[in-house]
Amino acid sequence: MAGVFVVDTSVFIVGKQPEGEVVTVQEVVDEVKDKVSRYNLGRGYSVSDVLDEDITHVKDVCIETGDYGRVSKTDLKLLALAYRLKLENKSPVVVSDDYSIQNVLEKLNIPYQGVQQEEIEKEVVWGFRCVGCKREFSSKELEDCPVCGSGLEERILKRKDIVDD
Ligand SMILES: [Zn+2]
Repeated sequence: MAGVFVVDTSVFIVGKQPEGEVVTVQEVVDEVKDKVSRYNLGRGYSVSDVLDEDITHVKDVCIETGDYGRVSKTDLKLLALAYRLKLENKSPVVVSDDYSIQNVLEKLNIPYQGVQQEEIEKEVVWGFRCVGCKREFSSKELEDCPVCGSGLEERILKRKDIVDD
């Protein structure tokens, strides 16, 4: 079952369009055109209409989760679009950094990802490990182990996720 990415305005503005089928609503396209040049809208995406009954449904869910005051009309349409795709047995993944949207998607049981998610990668932290006592040191100033006096070898101490805020 191929996934369909339902993307919000920030995806186009940041220029992080996912690879694959990308759909959005007309309001998003209009917002992007207001803010940036059409250049960022260059790659393939399609614009989908939204059903009133779906908007009504997601609006109810927003009220239920307490997010109604925090979602825009555009947000509601994106949620309605994702909801419709799910009803049609597609696998929508909503791409948005908006916490209210993500919260409502949790309730709708629709997966989502942050706009910058593909930026998350492992950051390698280099350091030194003592060949004798195996203690690890991050300082590059050391020549020998300050604990036991043995030599140090350079190695990867850890890998951590880089989360781009
Ligand atoms: Zn040592």
